[in-house]
Amino acid sequence: MPELRRDPVTGRWVCLAPGRALRPEAAHDSAIPPDAHPADCPFCEGREGRTPPEVAAIRPGGSGPNTPGWRVRVVPNLFPAFSDDDADADLADPLHAHGPALGASEVIIHSPDHRRWLPFLSAEQAELVMATTSERYRRHSVPGVGSVVPIYNHGREAGASLTHPHGQVYATRVASPVLDEELRGAEEAYRGVGNCVFCSMIEVEEAQEVRLVAQAEAFVAIAPYASRQAFECWIIPRRHAADFGEVEDEDAAALGVFLRDVLWRLYQEVGDVPLNWYIHSLPNATGDWSRSFHWHLEVRPKLTEIAGFEMATGTYINTTAPESAAAMLSAHGGPSPEATDPI
Ligand SMILES: [Zn+2]
Ligand SMILES: [Zn+2]
Ligand SMILES: [Zn+2]
Repeated sequence: MPELRRDPVTGRWVCLAPGRALRPEAAHDSAIPPDAHPADCPFCEGREGRTPPEVAAIRPGGSGPNTPGWRVRVVPNLFPAFSDDDADADLADPLHAHGPALGASEVIIHSPDHRRWLPFLSAEQAELVMATTSERYRRHSVPGVGSVVPIYNHGREAGASLTHPHGQVYATRVASPVLDEELRGAEEAYRGVGNCVFCSMIEVEEAQEVRLVAQAEAFVAIAPYASRQAFECWIIPRRHAADFGEVEDEDAAALGVFLRDVLWRLYQEVGDVPLNWYIHSLPNATGDWSRSFHWHLEVRPKLTEIAGFEMATGTYINTTAPESAAAMLSAHGGPSPEATDPI
């Protein structure tokens, strides 16, 4: 059973989940293997019985749960890092504080197609993927939750244990230190700038036009000014909201298409590199944070290893200027509306 342990020096919580060591290992180092339908993939259509029972699915033909005929399918994580299993807790121990890792972890299978991840899906499928992600986010964004984080791992080096394209949603009781840092930082920046720093960022980046990657009616993609990694991209919604749960269905669908566009540009420029994307959002946005925080999606390609200096100091050394990355990415056109062949 997963357990949270508190570091006695920094107060940072760590999730200890030994059961996840049993996860299947990806058979290939690069992201998408050429074999279209591996015999043992539990996420392929026709193998619905090999996952825990689904909690949601898009089934246009009205097929029954846990049978073929789905477009997007959501199942609980077989190897959860967080779950609602209760266990003993001792938060007062100064050296060994611990408690159960309460929360949820779900898997969103992006399509029945084993070979196509987001940039290669049709625009319509990308809409379904993000509409489902938004629905699952809202489902877990309940009072008492500390963070709800949709994430995606592409490639084994980025943490994908199964090659069939799938996202995940993690809901935890404790707030994440990264989100906490952003919330406090955004509030401080609000006091300095006199406005939401993300709203200001959109305004300035669109005026300067040197770090713009792509633009759409509801979203802007930029290479952030202090990019930690080469080709890091942030997607920021034009409409100010701290909580991704406030996004209209239409905008959630549009986010899927826009993210597909950004990932397509990255693929055109740097090829099939491992990457992660995730959404930073304040669940149940209330109080002061809601004026200063602004939900966003971060794309973090892994072109180099996070090495000793980064681990020791928390300071990243980035060898590609965001201005160069933006110039290269914005020069590419977007994908066609139809699904394309990844090979
Ligand atoms: Zn598969
Ligand atoms: Zn804003
Ligand atoms: Zn962020």
